[in-house]
Amino acid sequence: MFFVSKVRAAVDFSPRLGQNQKGMLDTATVLKALSTIVDPDFKKDIVELGFVRDLKIEDGVVSFTIRLTTPACPIKDHFKRQAEEAVGALPGVKEVRVTMDAAPAMEVSTGLPGVAHIVAVIAGKGGVGKSTTAVNLAVALMQMGAKVGLFDADAFGPNTPRMLGVRGVPLRTQGGRIVPIEAQGIKLVSIGSAIPEDQPVVWRGSLQHGFVRDFTQKTDWGELDYLIVDMPPGTGDIPLSVMQLLPLSGALVVGTPQEVALEDVRRGVTMLSKMNVNLLGFVENMSYLVCPKCGEEIDVFGKGGMDAFAETFGAPVLARIPMDVNIRKGSDAGLPAAFQEGPVAEAYKELAAAVVQRVAVVEKENPPRAAGVPQAGPGGNQPFLNVPKKN
Ligand code: ADP
Repeated sequence: MFFVSKVRAAVDFSPRLGQNQKGMLDTATVLKALSTIVDPDFKKDIVELGFVRDLKIEDGVVSFTIRLTTPACPIKDHFKRQAEEAVGALPGVKEVRVTMDAAPAMEVSTGLPGVAHIVAVIAGKGGVGKSTTAVNLAVALMQMGAKVGLFDADAFGPNTPRMLGVRGVPLRTQGGRIVPIEAQGIKLVSIGSAIPEDQPVVWRGSLQHGFVRDFTQKTDWGELDYLIVDMPPGTGDIPLSVMQLLPLSGALVVGTPQEVALEDVRRGVTMLSKMNVNLLGFVENMSYLVCPKCGEEIDVFGKGGMDAFAETFGAPVLARIPMDVNIRKGSDAGLPAAFQEGPVAEAYKELAAAVVQRVAVVEKENPPRAAGVPQAGPGGNQPFLNVPKKN
């Protein structure tokens, strides 16, 4: 594996004749300097990982590209600085030009052309802040430089159009395909944008399956680094269809810290493992309340429950999001709190960074694949979208 990367790296480089003579700056020396930079997630150096590309040396000017696996890499600036320092310290180097670039580590087919990673946000029950987390995670990933889409699969409580300020903007189709709504930089697809607000969604299982299939596969997502799926609470038909139809990079589980809610969390996690979906980790939402008068942290829903889960299931607590009135206000006003400055936005940034890192690691260990759909029963293949037939 390492050998392959090294060969690939070597092939990509174009050493100039005469530069590898003794005492002169050559590609091997530059690579050696760069190999001191270790990716903390993969625990290998960036040369071994094949991240270094297009190395050129010309009259003391060293230029190369560092190609990461995601544009939202939380430590990309750190890598750039380290590379500039390591190469800049070599004798004979007059200038270092580093270009930062990103491409998925492996071509995983998500079944959705152009979509690199699909991440589901799940919760054992409603009201714990799952949609709020999904929306703010999407915003934070975008702020880190990623192209992000959001599929609101919470068909029975589609709140994301309101949370992203596009309530009432209708979803369009073009040539029989869904055109996502551009919601503050995020490509949003929600049933809430396709039906009148006061109309309840009443679907039997087969229609729920058709909804997931059509709203994902018949959507023009374009190029996306991350597609976030806001799942309905619980372990019903829609989560099942999402896991069957979409090769998920993994899922993160949102819950509040108190015991009762944690039992629901357990059911969600068990479903993931049954469906062979990677568990990215846990988000403890409404983790604590900062008293606006004295600044003291109050554990409204208790403490430590998520840590116990993290230990039991061998996955980290990715973030603890405080209970904060600005989160609720931001969602209601259509301006997610992740856009605002302050500790709440910081907490969502931490979450996004942790998700990026976990996705990279778990995809290597267990590449995403869809569970596949068992032979459908009567009506199971019923199309949800009425795509006009070509004459
Ligand atoms: P779910 O998707 O789990 O049903 P929502 O994301 O719709 O839950 O959140 C339920 C309510 O709680 C919303 O009014 C939301 O604004 C609010 N909320 C969610 N997380 C927080 C938080 N950390 N602090 C304050 N309010 C929150």
